[in-house]
Amino acid sequence: MSTPAYRRILLKLSGEALMGDDPYGINEKVVERIVGEIAEVSGLGVQIGIVIGGGNIFRGIQGAASGMDRATADYIGMLATVMNAMALSDAFRRHEVESRVLSALRIEQVVEPYIRARAIRHLEEGRIVIFAAGTGNPFFTTDTAAALRGAEIGAQIVLKATKVDGVYTADPQKDPTAKRYHRISFDEAIGRNLAVMDATAFALCRDIKLPINVFSIFKPGALRRVVMGEDEGTLVHS
Ligand code: UDP
Repeated sequence: MSTPAYRRILLKLSGEALMGDDPYGINEKVVERIVGEIAEVSGLGVQIGIVIGGGNIFRGIQGAASGMDRATADYIGMLATVMNAMALSDAFRRHEVESRVLSALRIEQVVEPYIRARAIRHLEEGRIVIFAAGTGNPFFTTDTAAALRGAEIGAQIVLKATKVDGVYTADPQKDPTAKRYHRISFDEAIGRNLAVMDATAFALCRDIKLPINVFSIFKPGALRRVVMGEDEGTLVHS
């Protein structure tokens, strides 16, 4: 039997991934399916850290657009990620997979605070670690939190789960001739102006040579294939 290509990964799930076709919030059926796929990969012995977004509930930038103070709006966005993290963790419990939520904002009645050494310990003991509240700072995104936590825990790769199964030459929904990049270097992605992750996250991954694999979380088995090192989505490398 083949072995996974990675021992430790950082999976970035957007809040929208939990929404399914709903206009807002958490769709339990969708969460069940995603958690099932992650549990399968955990069963292969891969250590998994997850950074969860909050866009299915609240985005700071939208709050600011309607007149809210940006930093306040961003803190609301971070709290939204805590709700998502708790929902994910509970779904893992139903799958009998151990997980812990570590939050960059202290809300100790409900989740553990983020302490790097503790995160690594949980990973080594086979627990899935869900990083909540992004970086803990306004004006950042959970993409940046994914790059940061990925770097901190020594993940070998950041897996960016999106709706599209990789990075394309053009928008595949608008242009039928658009082609998927199987592999692309950081420099080439910049040269071609491809939006892989937000600019801060991308710059950090590039600086520390942390590869990113963009794939679709809605494609059954795709996560497993990425983890097995198969050609799935787009691999961005140094
Ligand atoms: N956010 C923040 N700092 C962080 C991470 C997130 O202020 O380090 C806020 C920001 O307002 C953002 C919201 O939390 O809009 C939800 O995160 P994000 O938009 O990254 O979620 P996703 O698009 O992945 O669902």
